Amino acid sequence: MVTKNSADRDPLVIVTREGLYCPQADVYIDPWRPVQTALITHAHADHARPGSAHYHCLSSGSELLTQRVRPPLLTSHEAHQPVKFGPITCQFVPAGHVLGSAQIRITDGEQVWVVTGDYKRIDDPSCARFEPIACDVLITEATFALPIYRWPSMDQVMAEVLQWWDQAVRKQRQPVLYCYALGKAQRIMAELALRSSRDVIVHPTIAQLIPAYESQGVSLCPWQPLVKHPKPAPGSLILAPPGAQGGHLLTQFKALDEAMASGWMQIRGVRRRRALPRGFVISDHADWDGLLRTVQETGASRVLATHGETRVLTDYLNRQGIQAARLATGYGQDEDHA
Ligand SMILES: [Zn+2]
Ligand SMILES: [Zn+2]
Repeated sequence: MVTKNSADRDPLVIVTREGLYCPQADVYIDPWRPVQTALITHAHADHARPGSAHYHCLSSGSELLTQRVRPPLLTSHEAHQPVKFGPITCQFVPAGHVLGSAQIRITDGEQVWVVTGDYKRIDDPSCARFEPIACDVLITEATFALPIYRWPSMDQVMAEVLQWWDQAVRKQRQPVLYCYALGKAQRIMAELALRSSRDVIVHPTIAQLIPAYESQGVSLCPWQPLVKHPKPAPGSLILAPPGAQGGHLLTQFKALDEAMASGWMQIRGVRRRRALPRGFVISDHADWDGLLRTVQETGASRVLATHGETRVLTDYLNRQGIQAARLATGYGQDEDHA
């Protein structure tokens, strides 16, 4: 009897024009073009695109996905619940990236493949924790796959945020923290709720996503919406998406103290390009150590890396004896959603 090793077996996931595709199940994962059946890892725009016929997602993410994509047909699944597509079984497993984010576990009963979607390994009070899945082939994101990316602890970063916030208030300036509207903002609100009774003023783009968090029982700090001609709220922090910088809702304040929360803030040049005096390293993606730890914990013998610094990661893994290659995908390398 000849047993095939994993490299000889039929791949469970391939890249097509439409996106990552499992031929045996006839399903796509986070397709970038409209398809019949789309398994969605999370509601960020580069992973959840409109136009497909039938969407599947983790139940905790269904409200966000509905808001973002308006799916004509949506089936939501509890974490780990097996879903059959012909001979293939899929499961949605928490990815720790944003509320409702999932990895997709795919098996034909012989091989196990995992598509991570975006993920992080640091605890986040606004979503379920990443769970490593034993697999043969791991398709991992690689947004921050360089050894320079090492995230500080949230205790450390949040202490820095509170200190900066207090300083701004003492100088009678209005602190504004730019953060991605889906995930990062609500994570910061949940981190604040753990540490203080402080309240924030949130930009409408962020505010409209908050009900999805509240309906999932995520504890957020007290907040009020940012409006034109706001009542004075001395001492409050404004949370706004990066795209709101320079917009009318913010320029109505005389003196702003602006900062940004992103993994990219580890690189000084990015902060300077945006003309921001301050940056906080808060990322919803895995850092270098988080990526390597994940590869190790899954026990994968083959790794395929998508979006980001894929070459450095695959070179490193190949030197460690793990067969690794890059996978060209249509996911964004958007500075704002990291
Ligand atoms: Zn994402
Ligand atoms: Zn992504």
